[in-house]
Amino acid sequence: MIHALAEEGVAVEAAPSPASVAVEAAADDTDALAESPVKDWASPEYVKRQIDLLQEGLTQVLFDDYSVVIKTEPGDPIWGNLAMHINVAINAARNAIARAEKSEALAAMRLSLEQKNQELEAAVEQLRRRNAELDAFVHTCSHDLRTPLVSMQGMVGLIMEEFGSNLEARGQHYLGRLQANVVHLEQLIADLQQVALAGRDGSPAQPADLDQIVRYVVNELSETIEARKITFEVGELLPVLAVGAHVEQVMRNLIGNAVKYLGDTPEPRIEIGSVRRDDDVVECWVRDNGIGIDPAYHEKIFEMFQRLHDVPVEGTGIGLAIVKKVIEGAGGRVWVESALGQGATFRFTWPAV
Ligand code: ADP
Repeated sequence: MIHALAEEGVAVEAAPSPASVAVEAAADDTDALAESPVKDWASPEYVKRQIDLLQEGLTQVLFDDYSVVIKTEPGDPIWGNLAMHINVAINAARNAIARAEKSEALAAMRLSLEQKNQELEAAVEQLRRRNAELDAFVHTCSHDLRTPLVSMQGMVGLIMEEFGSNLEARGQHYLGRLQANVVHLEQLIADLQQVALAGRDGSPAQPADLDQIVRYVVNELSETIEARKITFEVGELLPVLAVGAHVEQVMRNLIGNAVKYLGDTPEPRIEIGSVRRDDDVVECWVRDNGIGIDPAYHEKIFEMFQRLHDVPVEGTGIGLAIVKKVIEGAGGRVWVESALGQGATFRFTWPAV
């Protein structure tokens, strides 16, 4: 067996136990020595040839090539045995190097994983700080800024009441404008607060019945819908994974806008539907055949306080900012497809149930 390994250059997988090698080698050696002529394996030329063969292989090892298999003269029991032992040692070294490389790669991976973890923790901490700042901001909005405004409103009211009749028309006009601006400022602060709070009530997402939510919102608008004779078409609405109040806020804004911006289109029509886009996303749309939006403003309308149309409809320009914030907070996205005078289709995605 030992001869076969050494002579045929078979790569040795694992070192046999020293005891078994010694016993087998001894038995083989005795047989082979008895058969081979003495001059062959003992002559200086023969010995030199075997040493050269060994050296040739070992030189490769010196150059880090551990794939080498050292061979000696075929049929030689002693040198063959030695070559086999060297091959076993080379193989063991190759395995040890491979193991070291593997554990080095693992250590590098562990290190980069730890670094990523640290970066993630830092990002989470930063987010926590930002959230705390936002909470402080919201608190400032609702209390510190409101209080002096309310007092200003009271003062303006008092001035109007007590001294209004003494003021000439111009004075009354200025006072009226002051009052209107104070009311407007209060509204802006309330809007800011709404945007800051949108989608942040911390409730867990759970299966929400989109169909029921839409019917509820449409019902709220029933008076306007009837007065304007709007045809409503509600298609299949798939359930979504959401905080119910968040989807309702989105739908109230989108459907409310669809109704608000119909303009004087003769056969007003609003369609609402949904489709499952892939395994975990539902895409919903609210389509109207109203005044439409110039593509140049398709992004801008989602920013705070952006209003486009000079149409006499109520609004402060924060509805779509809230919609975007709530949808993105839930992991979805929102966009609009429209052209001026061609109606508008607002689409958004939401995690499916
Ligand atoms: P608001 O309705 O209070 O002005 P929004 O943020 O909801 O604020 O909308 C921003 C602007 O986008 C609106 O002022 C309007 O110009 C435009 N817009 C929104 N929805 C529609 C729609 N369905 N059709 C046409 N224009 C729209």
